[in-house]
Order: sequence, then C-alpha cells, then structure tokens
Amino acid sequence: MCGIVGYIGKRQAAPIILDGLSKLEYRGYDSAGMAVFDGEKIHMEKEVGRLKVLENLTRGGETMKGVLGIGHTRWATHGTPSCVNSHPHLNREGTIAVVHNGIIENYITLRKLLQEKGYEFVSETDTEVLPHLLDYYYRKKGTPLAAISSLINRVEGSYALGILFADHPDVMYAVRKDSPLVVGKCPDGAMIASDVPALLKYTRTVYYPDNQEIAQLREDGVKFFSLDEEEQEKESVTIDWDADAAEKAGYEHFMLKEIYEQPRAVVNTISPRIKDDEIVIDELKMTDEELAGVRRIHIVACGSAYHAGVTGKYVIESLARIPVEVDVASEFRYRNPILAEGSMVVVISQSGETADTLAALRESKARGFRVLGIVNVVGSSIAREADSVMYTWAGPEIAVATTKAYSAQLAALYLLAVKLGRVQGRIGDGDYREMLSDLRSLSTQIELLLGQKEKIQKFANRYVGARDIFFIGRGIDYAISLEGSLKLKEISYVHSEAYAAGELKHGTISLIEEGTLVVAVATQPDLYQKTLSNIVEVKSRGAFVMAVTGEDNREMEKAADYVIYLPQIKPCFANSLAIVPLQLFGYYVAVGKGCDIDKPRNLAKSVTVE
Ligand code: GLU
Repeated sequence: MCGIVGYIGKRQAAPIILDGLSKLEYRGYDSAGMAVFDGEKIHMEKEVGRLKVLENLTRGGETMKGVLGIGHTRWATHGTPSCVNSHPHLNREGTIAVVHNGIIENYITLRKLLQEKGYEFVSETDTEVLPHLLDYYYRKKGTPLAAISSLINRVEGSYALGILFADHPDVMYAVRKDSPLVVGKCPDGAMIASDVPALLKYTRTVYYPDNQEIAQLREDGVKFFSLDEEEQEKESVTIDWDADAAEKAGYEHFMLKEIYEQPRAVVNTISPRIKDDEIVIDELKMTDEELAGVRRIHIVACGSAYHAGVTGKYVIESLARIPVEVDVASEFRYRNPILAEGSMVVVISQSGETADTLAALRESKARGFRVLGIVNVVGSSIAREADSVMYTWAGPEIAVATTKAYSAQLAALYLLAVKLGRVQGRIGDGDYREMLSDLRSLSTQIELLLGQKEKIQKFANRYVGARDIFFIGRGIDYAISLEGSLKLKEISYVHSEAYAAGELKHGTISLIEEGTLVVAVATQPDLYQKTLSNIVEVKSRGAFVMAVTGEDNREMEKAADYVIYLPQIKPCFANSLAIVPLQLFGYYVAVGKGCDIDKPRNLAKSVTVE
C-alpha cells in the first residue's frame, strides 16, 4: 500500500532511493527504511515517522555506501508502526533483505511452520515470513531465482517485493502479485518502484511486470522470468506523463484513482478472512460461542462511516436477526445511551482518530461494554483503545471524500453480518456457500461497473448547473442514498438530500419541481414495486429520474428517464455495487463545476476535533 524503491547500477543507491521514496510520499506511510549492500554485507537503517527522519539518520544516504539497495515507506497493516516492524526485514544472518507492500494472508501458518524449523521472529508483521522463507528455500534450492519461485508458490495474498541477496550483490530481484510495481531501465542501471513518479527523474523506460513474474535487475539490464524460471519476452513502455499526473497514476484526481482502487480494497478486506470456505475473523478475539451470545449491536460512527453503519444495520438485522442501533457518534456520546446486557459496540472510522467516535468508544468502554473498531489506519487511537480491531485494508486514502475506505468498511460489515448469522444459526449451509461466493466475486462486479464510467460522466455533465438533487430508496437503498447524496454535496457543493422513498410524500415532495433530478435506487427485489410507485409520484410532479437497479429490471426504463444497471448480486450486498455510479456521478458533477475535488472547501480528511 505505500512505497517501494530499489536501485542497482553505477551510482550510489541510497540517495536515489530516498529521492524516489519522497516522490511516493503522497501515498501515505508511517515509517521508512533502507537496505544497501556495502561491498561486504547488507547495511540496514529504518525508523518510524517521516522520510526526513531516515534522511537525517543517513545524512541524505551518505552513510550508506553501495550501488545496490532497496527502500520502503510502510503503511502498517500487521503490527503497529514501530522501528522493528518497519521494512526492510532480514533473515537471521542478515544476508537476505526484503521490502514488501501488501498483505501475506497465510502468514500465521507460514510463521508456525518456520518456527518449527527453528526460525526466530522479531517483528509482528506478516512480511517477516518472507526473508525466512527465502532463506529456507535458498539453502534448499541454491539459487535466488529458485528460492523466489518456491516462495511465490507458498505465499498467499498480495505483494510487491524488492529482494537483495548478499551472496549475489550484482543483482536485485522483484516480484508482484496484485500490488503495484514498475521496473525501470536507466542509462546507468535499473530500478524498481511502486509507482512511476519515483522513477521519472532517472528513466522514462519502464516495464509493468505481470502477476508472479520475477524481475531480475542488473546494472546492464532487466530480465523477466516465469514461475518455472523460463525467461519471458517483455515490451517496455515509454512514460510521457508529467510528474503530477504520474502521482495519480494518470488519473485526474486522487478521488477518481481511489474509486478505481475499490475492487482491490474490497478484495484485501475480504479475502484474508475467508479460509477453507469459512469466515474466520481472528481479530474479533471472540469465540463462536461468544458471538452467538451477542444480543444487540450499537454501531457508532460519523459521516460516510455512519452511512456504512446504516447499511450494516440492515444487513446484520436481516442475516443474523440481531437488533442493531446506529448512532451518529456526536449524538451517542451525549445521549446517555442505554446499553443492555449482551450488547456489543462497533465503532467505524477510516482514520481511527475521529474525535467523536473515539469519545463514543471511551464512553462505551467505561460502561463495561466490549468495543470492536473497524478502522483503516493501523495503530491509530481507536485501533489502540478498542477491545478488538477489524482492519479495512483499503490502503492510504488521500482524497478527503472517502470512496475506497467506505467500500472496505461495507466489506468488513458484511463479513461480520454473515459470521454472526452463521454462528447464531440463521444461515444454512447452502445460503452460506452462496454468500461466500458472492463476497469473493464482489470486487470483480465492482470492476464491471467501473466500465460504465463514460455513461455516468455524460449524464453527470447535464447536471453541472443543478441546484437541488434528491436521492431516494428503501431499506438498504436508503442507506446507499444517504452516501450518494453526501458524496455529491461534499465535493460539488450542490444541495442534495437523501430520503427514505416512502417518506418523501410526507413533506419533502413539495420541493420537486419541473426538471428536478431524483436519483432513485431500487436494488432490493422485495421493495422494488414500492420504490417504483415513488418514482411515479415524483415523475408526476415533474422530476427527471435516474434509476439505479439490478440488470433484470429492464421494465424500469418505462418508469425512469435514465437507468444504470447493476450486475447480479445478493440484495444484501447490493450497496457495494450501487454506490459506484453514485460516487462517479458526484465526482463528474464536481469536475464539471471546476471544484477542488481532492480538497473540498471547509472539510478535513480526519476530523480530530469535536
Ligand atoms: N503488511 C506489511 C506490514 O504491515 C506491509 C505493509 C505495507 O504495504 O506497507 O508491514
């Protein structure tokens, strides 16, 4: 999720790595480190905090001599941000160094196996299994390439790796799976980086390795190998973007980039928690019996996280039949909430620093209730203070308006809902299997929807001048409407409201005029006809209706003026799909108005004040 840079060539590696890492700072990180081969051994430095700290520690790289090195800025996913957890990680002899972006899903199993073989671990990270496993295979197989391909065969999850072997100081290795990595060919050597901006000063000739393709970099060139160590033909690409566009991977704004990162955020959050066709959420630190004893859930959050919570309420109540109350944190903390025996409190926050949510957590703990945090930033205040933490592995989010962190929060809530439903005996074997399969395919479905970008863009262009826009829906569709409306207003400054579709006629319908846009969400089969009636109601008052509905509901075209169809999904997970066109809609209205998309007025990314 953050940054990797590596260099091999004629020049000193450390200053180039520091410079490259500084171009990746926008990705967010909590610590930084480097390993350089100094002619005899691997020299490593790492520290918590800004890159400046590492720069000062190494006097801009001066103290780390050598022409081969790898560096890393870490965004902690496993283990708090600390010096020992930061990268690189080494084998015991310090002869193999690894930097890693991503998540090793089967690290617990691998750690156990390696411990049984006598390997000792010093950090809490998932990453540390990698240098030890490489050590194991290197001893067995004899070459770095064979060791790396054996490693890849054993490791599950997502990774971009930069690897040094002290025994082979004329070569650097890199490999990726589902995490970004680019390889550059420079006039005086070769480089790796998580993203193009780190390379631009040194080269514009880059290669994009495929999943599990091993890159072998030397001073005079780059080669690629398949898992069975066959050399691969690979075409280079010439980068013609400027540095600013490169930071956003060619996207116009971080928000759009993050909208496109949603499939990955969802996969990263779901897939490590489905093991052997079971949902396993070890981090809950609760046995199945304890989960079966949960009688009531209070979800507490702010902003979009609150909207994720509203969806969570519908999903948990329908799958587990446990009553759920959802509160805005600033209300919860002062309303002297009644928390009955058997209650569990779930607080949700991207940053883990949201002041009101943190206060709600403390209030609940003080009353003796168990608090689960759903948080994106490892080691944040909420993560530290909650009784248990379920991380959303969305990676750092830069745009103020959340998209991928929200989607990852939904994914975490689905896992919790299905798990609770299962242990409470509400979900039978067949349904359980189907749900797991839907959860697994969620990211592919989101990707499919992202393919409709142009269609939504064209439609949004017509509403750049809109004054008021309404979002309506029932049940989960109401929860989606809340988030769709918030996305639009926070970045485009167009006034908008979300209403439970059946409630509109009790007052707000008086605001509908000729041409007012109403976005109607209708993903829930059992509520479909009801929402259809509400569409007719607003249309007869002159509204222009854009509907978002399942792909089977083709007759929607007769009722609405414009329809966005969603791929097939179980209705309880439909929010994850329906939100995508609404995010894109808000984004393109704001682009059309020339708004400052990534930093909307009056808003902050992490609200650390009351
Ligand atoms: N999962 C690894 C860790 O927590 C890598 C995180 C990253 O991508 O920076 O150390």
